[in-house]
Amino acid sequence: MTSSTNQNTSHILVLGGGESGFGAALLAHHRKFQVLLSDKGRLQSKYREPLAEAGILFEEGTHTLAEQWLRQAQEGQIQLEIIKSPGIPDKVPLIQQALAIGIPIISEIEFGARYTQAIIVAITGSNGKTTTATLIHHLMQQAGLSVGLGGNIGESFAKQVIDDPYPYWVLEVSSFQLDNCFQFRPKVAVLLNITPDHLDRYDYVFERYIDSKFRICQAQQADDYFIYSFESKPIVDTIRQRGDLEPYALPFMIDKPEAASPTNRAFVADGQIIANVTLHAEQSKFSFPVNELTIKGKHNLSNAMAAILACQALDVKPEKIVKGLKTFRTIEHRLEEVATIRGVKFYNDSKATNVDAVYYALEAFARQKGKIIWIAGGTDKGNDYAPLLPLVRGAVSTLVCLGLDNEKLVETFSPHIPHVHQTTHISEAVSMAYAAAQPGDIVLLSPACASFDLFKNYEDRGRQFKQAVKALYKRQGETDI
Ligand code: ADP
Repeated sequence: MTSSTNQNTSHILVLGGGESGFGAALLAHHRKFQVLLSDKGRLQSKYREPLAEAGILFEEGTHTLAEQWLRQAQEGQIQLEIIKSPGIPDKVPLIQQALAIGIPIISEIEFGARYTQAIIVAITGSNGKTTTATLIHHLMQQAGLSVGLGGNIGESFAKQVIDDPYPYWVLEVSSFQLDNCFQFRPKVAVLLNITPDHLDRYDYVFERYIDSKFRICQAQQADDYFIYSFESKPIVDTIRQRGDLEPYALPFMIDKPEAASPTNRAFVADGQIIANVTLHAEQSKFSFPVNELTIKGKHNLSNAMAAILACQALDVKPEKIVKGLKTFRTIEHRLEEVATIRGVKFYNDSKATNVDAVYYALEAFARQKGKIIWIAGGTDKGNDYAPLLPLVRGAVSTLVCLGLDNEKLVETFSPHIPHVHQTTHISEAVSMAYAAAQPGDIVLLSPACASFDLFKNYEDRGRQFKQAVKALYKRQGETDI
């Protein structure tokens, strides 16, 4: 995949100047295209300065030059391709204009992948992408492979590809990145799950979101691998009927399958993760005790199975995978244990910005003895809370709503949760939750909503939560943090 879709492209217009656009601009410049980066908002200085230093043309607060380039492309004066940052929806006028005149619009991932020969493992799904990508990266590293990590994590993939330092890449790929992928061909594609999320970007049509996710395997061929959750099988089957799924499929499932000794799939039986896989004429027998997994909850069992299959597809030996699983640590803001104050455990799951992620967080604690004090709320993305009701009943004793507009949460959960409080301050939310908790209870920040009403982003929300918990801890004079 080293060739460009448009061999004659001379000019690259990068829309959006965040991590993704910045990296794409640097790579395009390195590859000797004429580059313009255009952002309607202000650039952060950590991007503005290196762009200026590299002599890359950019504009901020306006799309004036970008519009000029579009006109020149329309008149045939330049051969233009657009790299669109994932945060920019198709409905913005500039994109509409570009689409109308037939300018190719690709994502940074599509662009970056043109300039590496490395083997790519790509992970998508509604939830669990970061966890699983980080886990696969860790397992591969522990197995001694030289592997990069990119996509929605850390430094942009395109920027890292400039030096193309690794023979393997693990990429976390969102549906927004996939929307503008066409020839992107991962050797191993992982589809963790598909539940309604970001529907605002897909005209509230779930099928369009599904189509977007399946772009992860659209260019795969018979010697590639597609790892997917068996729960998504009806969706996978539907896509297969359309005839566009060619790679070798390896499903994973939480329960034991019906066949006596199933191969080429991962499942859970008798407290063990089993994944006996015969690929490349070699059998790889794998088992690992569930209770030795360092990441908790049913959802993480799925993530671990997907990661194990991905490594097996790349011929990583079972004993190396076991070593990696034992040394993996949880990631910040994903069911992260923060502190224990007088027997009350605090968990930061700020990254749970949709209902499905919260479902698994509540599920991880619902069967324990103590109650859950649940902190939720923020910017609602069109949530349907109904799937949470059976879990919430009996398990959650108090809901603290943390948002500017809590009406929907209050209305939905008041009949099912004995105590419901509201606040717009995180430290007050923590104090309210602590006041409601008994020793043995769990305080869980798992918001089901985006954070932008009160915070910069989910990381800011998670860190402020941890600070508030730590301040409370100091006030309580505890020692077992
Ligand atoms: P993503 O990168 O897809 O947003 P993360 O790994 O950052 O996923 O996790 C986001 C949230 O989803 C966290 O609250 C986490 O606990 C939860 N989560 C992780 N894996 C899964 C899964 N397989 N299914 C449902 N929820 C999950």
